[in-house]
Amino acid sequence: MAQETIFSKIIRKEIPADILYQDDLVTAFRDIQPKANTHILIIPNVLIPTVNDVEAEHELALGRMFTVARKLASEAGIAEDGYRLIMNCNRHGGQEVYHIHLHLVGGQPLGPLLSL
Ligand code: 5GP
Repeated sequence: MAQETIFSKIIRKEIPADILYQDDLVTAFRDIQPKANTHILIIPNVLIPTVNDVEAEHELALGRMFTVARKLASEAGIAEDGYRLIMNCNRHGGQEVYHIHLHLVGGQPLGPLLSL
């Protein structure tokens, strides 16, 4: 059984978060420590710890994460200029919270993809 994270509490609204969107499959909220002018996290409501745990049964929620990313980028006014979607996996990927999340970052030029 996967261990719940703080994100499960955000989904259930047990702790505060700036929730921008929620439906039966996904929740989106502002990152508490934004790395860019726009920094939103989009997560499945079901607990999937890492991309390594993704199964075919998750495909609907994973697809919804992208349609919500598109909608929120448009609402944030950053769609035309562009943005970046990032999902980190495990230690080398820099994952800190073990409930998969799509970072939607933009609102400024983001520079090169990787700094190692
Ligand atoms: P990761 O490094 O796992 O890809 O990203 C985790 C992200 O979650 C970080 O950008 C971090 O700022 C954000 N985060 C961690 N805890 C909280 C929280 O309690 N609330 C919100 N809104 N964001 C959080």
